[in-house]
Amino acid sequence: MIEQQKSNLSGLIDRRIFHLVGETADSLSRECYVVGGYVRDLIIGRHSKDIDFVTVGAGISVAEAVASRLGKGTHISVFRNFGTAQVKHRDLELEFVGARRESYDRGSRKPVVEDGSLDDDLARRDFTINAMAICVNKSRFGELVDRYDGLGDIRRRIIRTPLDPDITFSDDPLRMMRAIRFATQLDFNILPETLDAIARNADRIGIISRERIADELNKIMASPKPSIGWELLNRTGLLDLIFPRLAALRGIDRKGTRGHKDNFYHTLSVLDNVAAVSDNLWLRWAALLHDIGKPVVKHYDERLGWTFHNHDFVGSKMIPEIFRSLRLPLNEKMKYVRKLVELHMRPIALVEDIVTDSAVRRLANYAEDDLADLMILARADITSRNEEKKARFLRNFDIVEEKFRDISAKDRERNRKAIIRGDEIMHIFGLPQGPQVGILTKRLLQAQRDDEIRPTRQDALDFIYAVAAEQGLSPVNEPFDISDPADTPEDSQVELNQ
Ligand code: ATP
Ligand code: MG
Repeated sequence: MIEQQKSNLSGLIDRRIFHLVGETADSLSRECYVVGGYVRDLIIGRHSKDIDFVTVGAGISVAEAVASRLGKGTHISVFRNFGTAQVKHRDLELEFVGARRESYDRGSRKPVVEDGSLDDDLARRDFTINAMAICVNKSRFGELVDRYDGLGDIRRRIIRTPLDPDITFSDDPLRMMRAIRFATQLDFNILPETLDAIARNADRIGIISRERIADELNKIMASPKPSIGWELLNRTGLLDLIFPRLAALRGIDRKGTRGHKDNFYHTLSVLDNVAAVSDNLWLRWAALLHDIGKPVVKHYDERLGWTFHNHDFVGSKMIPEIFRSLRLPLNEKMKYVRKLVELHMRPIALVEDIVTDSAVRRLANYAEDDLADLMILARADITSRNEEKKARFLRNFDIVEEKFRDISAKDRERNRKAIIRGDEIMHIFGLPQGPQVGILTKRLLQAQRDDEIRPTRQDALDFIYAVAAEQGLSPVNEPFDISDPADTPEDSQVELNQ
């Protein structure tokens, strides 16, 4: 423990709420501090919403007095069993707790809790950067209490435990996940001794619920560069314990001189590439999982070398089970990830082959609203170190995207006219010119515009037959003998990727 810093941070907490809480605590003769993550974020200059206060002696009575001072529109929840109270006022969320001392039992991360001093309370906190408090009492307003040089660690960008890391992590193994999560969110380094202790205590993660682990993984995934977290989970051995399917991507197999790329590191690059352009958490999960089927289908072929045939399809089939075991939601987010994993090779196949309108249209129809996300993933997947090759692929994707735009313009144009025209309807049903023909044509046009049918001649004919039948009409002649451009792959072939 180093000597306490005598910094005064009153400038940082010069807001009415901190003065109000301080005066309230003074009136009850209680010491009161802002503490923990809020202080850390305040110093770093990061936004954080919830404010935690710690009082020496019971916190609930201070919370009640603060709530009554805040007056109208204030809501208080008291948790007597835990000795905590939460006060909500407009967009403020204040949490009050009495300073405590904790002791742990090996079988659980739930400590035995007793009243303690401020120093006891700071010593039980997970990291030095989370173990600082700022006094709000009037006589010491803004005084920083920093027993473990959290301020210095913020400056040095270091994650470190206040006490012996082996004890800290063994007592509450969730802290291992938190260390890695903070390192990722803040782009800090975990001190080597601290990191070694995580590796030594990794198997204690078994006592942590999967839901808590999922919360931390999602925070890692939402960070600017999520690979930092996955790389640390890998280095400490946690990855093999919490997500063995991902760990299975690691490594390079060789046969003679032929190897394949390390799919774990490739996956992390793809993830970072996606994170650089999109905050969509589930698109990021799709990036992490896009090659998850590779270890399952890996095969060595004398002629082709290492192959991963069908890994997209096999991988997509694995998604529900992975989501279930990681406790990620089994809803439309899972379906979205499964779909992107299944389709992730399709854009590259489009640029490698001769592109036909119908192939482009098929993919666009299948991907629907997720087409733009699919293209982000496909572009992110180009991690070749060969710059020339990379540039060529990306250029080809531009061409594919242009084709998507072209085709949707063509489809819009086509939808201005009914696919089956009035003269043909008259011919098929033996009708004279008149309102009946107009009604059938209008219904078809509406169905085309609403995407009730695919824009093919066959679908349009089926639709017309059905609507005519409702009106008691039956066909008396065969339709005209016209081939449908959307059904024939030969139209407007474009050679790409030469
Ligand atoms: P965030 O709010 O971004 O998750 P945080 O550090 O504020 O980060 P909280 O869960 O809000 O995390 O906890 C507030 C404070 O409580 C922390 O800063 C830390 O001092 C303490 N704390 C939280 N969880 C633990 C833990 N598992 N072990 C020790 N101290 C903890
Ligand atoms: Mg917090």
